[in-house]
Amino acid sequence: MIGGRVLLALAPQAPRELARNREVVLVSGTNGKTTTSTYLTACLRTRSPVDHNADGANTPAGIVRALAAGSAPVVVLETDEGWLPWTLEQTRARTAVLLNLSRDQLHRHHEVAAVASSWHSALSGLDHAVANCDDPDVVFSALAASRQTWVGVGIRWTQDALVCPRCGQECRRTAEDWRCTCGLRRPTPHWRLEGADLVGDTRRVALQVGLPGQANLANAAMAVVAATTLGADPQDAADSLRDIVSIAGRYDVLESAGRRARLILAKNPAGWVEALGLVSAGTAPLVLAFSSDGVDGRDPSWLYDVPFAGITGRPVVVTGRRATDMVVRLQMDGLSDVRRAPNVVSALAMVPPGPVDVVANYGAFQDARRELGHAS
Ligand SMILES: [Zn+2]
Repeated sequence: MIGGRVLLALAPQAPRELARNREVVLVSGTNGKTTTSTYLTACLRTRSPVDHNADGANTPAGIVRALAAGSAPVVVLETDEGWLPWTLEQTRARTAVLLNLSRDQLHRHHEVAAVASSWHSALSGLDHAVANCDDPDVVFSALAASRQTWVGVGIRWTQDALVCPRCGQECRRTAEDWRCTCGLRRPTPHWRLEGADLVGDTRRVALQVGLPGQANLANAAMAVVAATTLGADPQDAADSLRDIVSIAGRYDVLESAGRRARLILAKNPAGWVEALGLVSAGTAPLVLAFSSDGVDGRDPSWLYDVPFAGITGRPVVVTGRRATDMVVRLQMDGLSDVRRAPNVVSALAMVPPGPVDVVANYGAFQDARRELGHAS
């Protein structure tokens, strides 16, 4: 990061120079950026060398460092949603992959509508948006680009998609459709997810994704479609994802005194809904690790928008620097015998040996990895 900051300070034009004559593809959204950009990189490497900010450093210093680190003809850049306008302007990227927009780090990003509005303005200079047609904020933004490839991958978290980003009226939503009286409505997708298949007008591609959960199938679909629009064969692209089973420590299984802890990152309301959907499909004991430092966002009030009732019927232990907030929240949803531990190792010792799911927000996730001996 320091190298990137120094380069930007000494040569503010560096990103523009380093991106010149390269195919730059941006990947942005509230959730799934790191996974989707990693997937897209794998898909595109079936055709050519690709540079990628694989460390997840997705603000200017990390972006310029990634551009400076290689000279591949294609560069995939995971981009923080607040920095998408800057990155577009600097790199003159022709393609952006737009995943979803929902609340995250409330003290920094403010309202979702403000982010959608800044995207809409910035994307007017973009050639091609590969965009999730099930998220009204993404659709409104992507319509500013010259052309769009719509992908129907769904959104599980709809509470930030209730109001039309164009006119402020209510967006009426059914299971598979949404529309507003102003005329903004769900575009017909060029590609859509059907189970684990990605279905286009003339192709059906089987996605065999090593990472668990519906959100990662959606990430894979977005990546394969984007790669296809950039010239990759869809099946080759899909096949390149099969062996990716962990990204930046997410879903790693780490051992602690006979407990096999699967680490699941959940950064914000939409992420927690996905994570709880994933763990509630099983019966493993659960450790919830919750902090509110730095990138976690200091305002955890959104915990009250996440339904926790689905995780009953198993031991639950809470830890992290804001564990009290989590315990109170769980009590409100009727989980009364939740226990509390000073750290993840102690929490694991309080549940029976065997598989355990550890769901953590960002700071707590990094703490858990350090505790369990895999410092990042
Ligand atoms: Zn409207």
